[in-house]
Amino acid sequence: MKRIGHWIDGREVFGNSGRDGAVYDPAVGQVQARVDYADVAEVDAVVASCIRAGKTWSQSSLSRRAEILFKFRELLDGRKADLARILTSEHGKVHSDAMGEISRGIENVEFACGVPHLLKGEHSEQAATGVDVYSLRQPLGVVAAITPFNFPAMVPIWMLANAIACGNTCVLKPSEKDPSCSNFLAALLKEAGLPDGVLNVVHGDKVVVDRLIEHPAVAALSFVGSTQIARYIYENGTRNGKRVQALGGAKNHMVVLPDADINMAADAAVSAAYGSAGERCMAISVVVAVGDAADPLVKAIEARLDRIKVGPGTDPVNEMGPLITREHRDKVASYLDIATTEGAVVVRDGRKQAFTGDGFFLGVSLVDHVRPGTRMYTDEIFGPVLGVLRVASYDEALALVNSHEYGNGTAIFTRDGGAARRFQREVDVGMVGINVPIPVPVSYYSFGGWRASLFGDHHMYGPEGIRFFTRTKVVTSRWPDPATSTIDLGFPQNR
Ligand code: NAD
Repeated sequence: MKRIGHWIDGREVFGNSGRDGAVYDPAVGQVQARVDYADVAEVDAVVASCIRAGKTWSQSSLSRRAEILFKFRELLDGRKADLARILTSEHGKVHSDAMGEISRGIENVEFACGVPHLLKGEHSEQAATGVDVYSLRQPLGVVAAITPFNFPAMVPIWMLANAIACGNTCVLKPSEKDPSCSNFLAALLKEAGLPDGVLNVVHGDKVVVDRLIEHPAVAALSFVGSTQIARYIYENGTRNGKRVQALGGAKNHMVVLPDADINMAADAAVSAAYGSAGERCMAISVVVAVGDAADPLVKAIEARLDRIKVGPGTDPVNEMGPLITREHRDKVASYLDIATTEGAVVVRDGRKQAFTGDGFFLGVSLVDHVRPGTRMYTDEIFGPVLGVLRVASYDEALALVNSHEYGNGTAIFTRDGGAARRFQREVDVGMVGINVPIPVPVSYYSFGGWRASLFGDHHMYGPEGIRFFTRTKVVTSRWPDPATSTIDLGFPQNR
């Protein structure tokens, strides 16, 4: 059985805690490897490695950091097919989704390549007579990145690219369900010239996360995952004096106004709800059909469902792969019974699609007449189950979106620019799409939701990522006026 070790000081290191976990191939439903889980002493050793490496890395020139990031970008681009294969084998998403994920990650590396510009401070000459005031951006020290299973390449890159560009050293604790992408990224960074110990990868579970939360030398925690754990990380991390950004779960609404292009909206709903088997924090989970939009929209979505090819991600014809675990697949499927009990109408039941083998597959499902207050509406299902809620007006749709626990992403479909503009102003959600179903911001903006979708003050990556991974220092300096100096500095007034 293949064993996956940690990545410490520039090489793979097998642990000695005696703890480990299974890594599945979700498309066949079998264990394909075991990953070592670190204990407290091993986490401490990893943090010590980061502290050692940080002594020189924090002093490295901006041009050297940029050069390493440029090389990393090139290596990542050249090997993305290899990385996509690892991703598909442990996560299950289809090859095209895996390649798309890696491309979005590469954008974040490209952003971080601009670090010499991004770390520029401010300068006020002559704030008082002979006094200049300026600000510096400095690294925090050792930072921890704790990531979820659903984007095992992109989310680690969201964090590590900016973290190391800013001169920090980083402990990456990826999801134990698909750990290999992180080791692959660390090996590429070494090849790009990153000194050993600047990025260490430690695998494991709550034991590792809890030690990172408590470790006095860890200055900041960057987390992406479920809301329950995000809240836990935020509360305990801040209690321990750390800077924390913790991104949580989502339930993204797509509002379709009666004037929308129904075919365009249906295409968008299908790709945004079922892409990556709905295991995306920006997936559309509920369509809010306003007025007359409902009947034609449900019909148009249903008509597209037969065309979605579900199967192993290794086969290029497939558009949707399996779910991450058997337990998660069964939990997602259970919402179809819940929906019926709650009085919603199951238009398409994905459980009826038959699959050969033991892979964690589930067909696509569509549930109409979902009602507010039901579990189908309130819960983050995180699978290929799309709900449709029917409302009479724009105001009703807006009130729904704004009163939901989650405020990660949302989209409106309409031909009316005025309505779209009103929505973007009035909606209480962090990322808004207008005729765009999954409005993930480009890397030079920042990513983050509102309410239970984000705990902390900084959104992820982009300019807010740079702010998160640095602290500012303001210097007020006075130098004697050369005219009053007793040394001849060659200034005209001294001659
Ligand atoms: P998760 O919360 O179960 O796990 C995330 C990380 O936390 C993993 O590294 C895991 O090992 C660790 N963890 C799990 N339980 C823990 C515990 N009790 N104590 C300490 N650490 C623990 O999330 P997941 O299932 O891997 O990912 C799916 C979730 O992530 C969904 O809710 C999804 O919406 C969310 N997500 C959010 C975003 C976003 O940007 N807002 C992006 C991707 C995923």
